[in-house]
Amino acid sequence: MVDRLVNSEANTRRIALVESCFGSSGVPLAISGRVLVGEGVLTKMCRKRPKSRQFFLFNDILVYGNIVIGKKKYNKQHIMPLEEVSLENIEDCNQYRNGWLIRTTTKSFVVYAATATEKQEWMAHIHKCVEDLLRKSGKKPVENHAAVWVPDAEATICMHCKKTQFTMIVRRHHCRNCGAVVCGPCSAKKFLLPQQSSKPVRVCSTCYERLSKALKVDTSKTSPNHENSNVNALKLSNDSSGDDDSDDEGTSAGTEQQHDQPKFYGDTTNLNVEESFNASTTHNSSHLPTN
Ligand SMILES: [Zn+2]
Ligand SMILES: [Zn+2]
Repeated sequence: MVDRLVNSEANTRRIALVESCFGSSGVPLAISGRVLVGEGVLTKMCRKRPKSRQFFLFNDILVYGNIVIGKKKYNKQHIMPLEEVSLENIEDCNQYRNGWLIRTTTKSFVVYAATATEKQEWMAHIHKCVEDLLRKSGKKPVENHAAVWVPDAEATICMHCKKTQFTMIVRRHHCRNCGAVVCGPCSAKKFLLPQQSSKPVRVCSTCYERLSKALKVDTSKTSPNHENSNVNALKLSNDSSGDDDSDDEGTSAGTEQQHDQPKFYGDTTNLNVEESFNASTTHNSSHLPTN
């Protein structure tokens, strides 16, 4: 259904428009074979609070950015290769409705659509693109996804020691492995999570121990000398900066605009929204990681 759009003028024009809206804050998006499948505003659960983000679904990547001027100017472009994207349904819970999880190896988060229908459309289209892509490449879906960060507001005390109270001065930190909100002493070490970053990242002390143990077992299996066993582990320098989720900064400027429905291009008749929606695994309403 998307294939016939590949060389269409309309597709070229739409992609050029997305590029111009991101301007110098984005990368060129027009590459051979790429199709813009759909676009629209979703509410992304960020570290501090839910925020409106403009999403663009291509046949190979999912792109989102902050809205500077609705439909005209976006910045903070994020690009996620669809090959490593997986979706998980989230049941409605109080004011949090029409949400689902977008998981990738480097970043996982919850988004909310304005209506149940829009949620179904988004999930079905993303699902279909991922499926097509994996079928073409013969690759298997990625299983090792980044943890979903527990929003700051959900933790007034450290989720690890259950003692430290967070204040303006006592800052929250996020374990990159389990997503828990923890205090500084409970996340004093870094660990190399190669899927997420080339540098070691902050982890909570429980995850640190578990990961170190797993690593030791692993290296003792593969190499007879253990000298490399601690290469992944690093004592965390005394920094409290650089811990912010960068796209958290900046609000969607200006006034709340009237809701625009997402647009999906191309023929969607062979896209069984209902079916792929139901096929997604059900996730319980909490964003809390299970470990
Ligand atoms: Zn603590
Ligand atoms: Zn952890």
